[in-house]
Amino acid sequence: MSTSQNWIDRGLAHVAGTYGRYPLVADRGEGCWLTDVDGKKYLDFLAGVAVNNLGHCHPKVVAALQEQAGRLLHCSNFYHIPQQIELAELLCKHSFGDRVFFCNSGAEANEAALKLVRKHSVEKFGDERIQVITALASFHGRTIGGISATGQDKVRLGFGPVVPGFKYVPFGEIEAVRAAIGPETCAIMLEPVQGEGGVNVPPAGYLKAVRELCDERELLLIFDEVQVGCGRTGTLFAHQSEGVEPDVMTLAKALAGGPPIGAMVAREHYAAALGPGSHGSTFGGNPLMASAALATMQTILEDGLLDNCLAMGGYLRQRLEELQDKYDFIVEVRGRGLILGMELAIEGGEMVKTALDRGLLINCTMGRVLRFVPPLIVGKQEIDQMIDILDNIFVEYRENNK
Ligand SMILES: *Cc1c(COP(=O)(O)O)cnc(C)c1O
Repeated sequence: MSTSQNWIDRGLAHVAGTYGRYPLVADRGEGCWLTDVDGKKYLDFLAGVAVNNLGHCHPKVVAALQEQAGRLLHCSNFYHIPQQIELAELLCKHSFGDRVFFCNSGAEANEAALKLVRKHSVEKFGDERIQVITALASFHGRTIGGISATGQDKVRLGFGPVVPGFKYVPFGEIEAVRAAIGPETCAIMLEPVQGEGGVNVPPAGYLKAVRELCDERELLLIFDEVQVGCGRTGTLFAHQSEGVEPDVMTLAKALAGGPPIGAMVAREHYAAALGPGSHGSTFGGNPLMASAALATMQTILEDGLLDNCLAMGGYLRQRLEELQDKYDFIVEVRGRGLILGMELAIEGGEMVKTALDRGLLINCTMGRVLRFVPPLIVGKQEIDQMIDILDNIFVEYRENNK
């Protein structure tokens, strides 16, 4: 029996069955490559679902973690934590934000955002005004609050009553947002580019129109940048290419380049709603994760990774479009920077499995959209290698389905 199979059997016996896992047992990673316990190498265009933006084990992140691990691992938020303070300063310096709340995941960052907008609105306008409008096909996390906010029925199935006060509108349609706003509405929450929902980019001007609507109706605007923040779209935060600023932004996934961290960034005026005792997290902003996040964000800014993201994003898109010209089952290539989706007219699940066999990691969202979110350090050579594998899979599919 292979080392992999042994781990797989043990995993299936005792680890919660919440994921349909592929038969890959991860051992180590470097740059754009992941190696399994049997020594097989995979070209990683999933990057931990847009987490490993600097690639695996970036030396600067590893060094920051090693240094911090020997200094201080954890200390309560009863006290001041220098690495957390520096990270907050960096995030505010490079965004609209004035204050940052730290937590450990995207769902938690969204919970903090939802608590903030509700509390601000209740204090200002009264108890009834707590509704948040979100988009269909959105994804905001797996907590009860997260699935309540998520505009997909399937994530709520079987969990009984969810948190009241959410309304879903089609993504990208400004008139639908306008029509949905009622006296009970306090905020609008959107992903600037939808990730899990199939890599959906809204029409130009949509986010700006939503911003104007929010100003007009005294609503807060939350951008969930958990997936598309931290350089993924070629700007440090996705909304920055649209000339639009939210009141609250949530981050997680790539923020620390691998280790778990979440953050909610808010304008001073609104952040005031969450005073002492109103919210908290034991591990939120701990020195270890904060040091990794600092190293990650500094590297993105200082090593030209935004430029590389735009250049390689353009190249990857061009190469994917060449495939689209070749195969009539490819419906569309879309996305921004290095989050690209390829919508197929056929199911994408088998393609993902075949790619894994051939040493390529990609995934498929919404059944038919292949998603490409490689590390931002990716180069042309890796993109060409990826395209070759995909091209071969597509040729074979066409041959077998004549
Ligand atoms: C992944 C994701 C989340 C949830 O993040 P977790 O860290 O898994 O809780 C929330 N929003 C968006 C847009 C995401 O992509």
